[in-house]
Amino acid sequence: MEEFICIACGTQYPPAPEAPAACPICEDPRQYIPPEGQRWTTMAELAAGHANAVRADGDFVGIGTEPSFAIGQRALLVPLGDASLLWDCVSLLDDATAAEVERRGGLAGIAISHPHYYSSMVAWAHRFDCPVHLHAADAEWVMRPDPAIRHWDGEQLDLGGGVTLIRGGGHFPGGTMLHYDGALLTGDIIQVIPDRSHVGFMWSYPNLVPLPEAAVQAIAAAVEPFEFDTIHGAWWGRIVTPDAKRVVRRSAERYGRALRGEL
Ligand SMILES: [Zn+2]
Ligand SMILES: [Zn+2]
Repeated sequence: MEEFICIACGTQYPPAPEAPAACPICEDPRQYIPPEGQRWTTMAELAAGHANAVRADGDFVGIGTEPSFAIGQRALLVPLGDASLLWDCVSLLDDATAAEVERRGGLAGIAISHPHYYSSMVAWAHRFDCPVHLHAADAEWVMRPDPAIRHWDGEQLDLGGGVTLIRGGGHFPGGTMLHYDGALLTGDIIQVIPDRSHVGFMWSYPNLVPLPEAAVQAIAAAVEPFEFDTIHGAWWGRIVTPDAKRVVRRSAERYGRALRGEL
């Protein structure tokens, strides 16, 4: 039995004698099946050719796989009590990474912005004996169900210690962001783009399918009650600072003008 991992999106599947016939995350039009077709790996095979870098990314410590694997996101450690909350997740979990996270106090929980970063969340949850907080609106996209997964409903979830999960929706109905100490961690829900004077919003990023204006306004409205000066996107160095809250407002307005042909 093997827990197969999709090479295109990084999602880990439940133990099985053979690789899955398909990856529903990749078959969904928000992701894609590579032109060369669907391919699979395993944790051992991934660890043989990759390692995780654990290093500062802005005000947080990031965990990212090198060379880049699947979608290429990096996770962040958010202080939570004496331990950390893992924000977003990566497919590779090896002994060196686990030891580094343990050295920093271990994990009190995992929270993930949306299904593209569910990756090996269950392996991480088992290793650190902690829950995974996912928005219930995206429950159909959990490919490896497990008792560690705790679905939450509604618009906000207070995890204590100043950490709040915020449902923004948009890219996925349960699209989640995290607010902590003047920072907003956004995954793909609010996208950090090359021009840091603005941010982006899309239904499908790789396939360039936009969101309706109402969905973008809803994302902006969801974060409006929170004070934040900085946004951390989904990849290393994707940081907007200072004045990130004004950047979100300005970008939602520009998006509306673009859809109305007013740019
Ligand atoms: Zn996939
Ligand atoms: Zn995504």
